[in-house]
Amino acid sequence: MTNRKPAVILAAAMIVASGFSRTETVRAQADAHPAFTVGTAAAQRGQKAYGVMHVPAGVDAGYDIPVVVIHGARPGPVLAVVSGAHGTEYASILSVEALIDNPSTAPATLSGTLILVPLVNVPSFERLTPHVNPNDNKSMNSRYPGDLNGTQTDRASAVITKEVVEQCDHLIDLHGGDLDENLRPYSYWTVTGNAKQDEFSRGMVLAFGLDHIIISRERPKDPRASRFLENTASTRGKPSFTAEAGRSGPVDAGDVTMLSDGVLNVMGYLKMTGRAATPVAKPVWVEVTSIASDYNGVFFPQVPRDAHVAKGATIGLVKDVLNRQIAEITSTDAGIIMFIRALPSLKKGDTIASLGVITQEPK
Ligand SMILES: [Zn+2]
Repeated sequence: MTNRKPAVILAAAMIVASGFSRTETVRAQADAHPAFTVGTAAAQRGQKAYGVMHVPAGVDAGYDIPVVVIHGARPGPVLAVVSGAHGTEYASILSVEALIDNPSTAPATLSGTLILVPLVNVPSFERLTPHVNPNDNKSMNSRYPGDLNGTQTDRASAVITKEVVEQCDHLIDLHGGDLDENLRPYSYWTVTGNAKQDEFSRGMVLAFGLDHIIISRERPKDPRASRFLENTASTRGKPSFTAEAGRSGPVDAGDVTMLSDGVLNVMGYLKMTGRAATPVAKPVWVEVTSIASDYNGVFFPQVPRDAHVAKGATIGLVKDVLNRQIAEITSTDAGIIMFIRALPSLKKGDTIASLGVITQEPK
């Protein structure tokens, strides 16, 4: 690919260059990042630093978001890996924690810089609250690029935009099935409309390694109204993506490894390490639709995650608490159950399932 030529580094030149943003021959010049600082984590070249990003107090309380900066011995791309916007999607949180001490991220072996943020939504983690920050009832992946005059989630989003998004070249946002979601693993590939950027991010997604990929075309294009974290990076010209694994509370070690290995694969793709990046050979490309509940009641799933269902197939039943059936939930299309509601609790408007409709490989 023409946009993946490695930057040429002459003599003792120190240049931070992702293959995406810098393809031209680079003259010898000073190290663009002799040190790298995110929040209170300040690392010199070849160092790992621990710290926090302070979310200032405002109309409600402030708090600290933990962060690690691994500043490689050699210059290279700056990759941010963020998880825990939803603080009960545990596999994704543990996968980023595991990366902190993985031998492949040791500063001595690393070209470039890793910004690792395992847990954005500390209040959700502490209080076992799915989907939202319990302090203001907002999703912590829906308020970007943030607002320092808003509530805690808005201010945290503004801090992450400034400290993480603006300082990185690429961002991976990791999620998983929340407490009520029985989810099969998948990535998203975002179509921004910038062909060069989209080709590069597609290479990142394929390198990551999950073989089911949701094509995401509808996200905002205006950086001032970016809304989601990946979207905030993508609308600022930084090839980025989201991936999900893990489900319904208990942590499966395989899900954790799937995500952390995926990040290591992308690091190989970005030439941050010598790891060979083998792209997914035959990805399943899907477009997703959400099936929501029209009822309050008790939910009984009738198919597992990853089931291939026909249009009109029964995927769940809704009963009242006295065991009387209220409704049969059927699939709105033929497709793959990307996730299905894992818990009996159900109220009107809740998501029952995310259905992936298989589509052609995008051109
Ligand atoms: Zn999530």
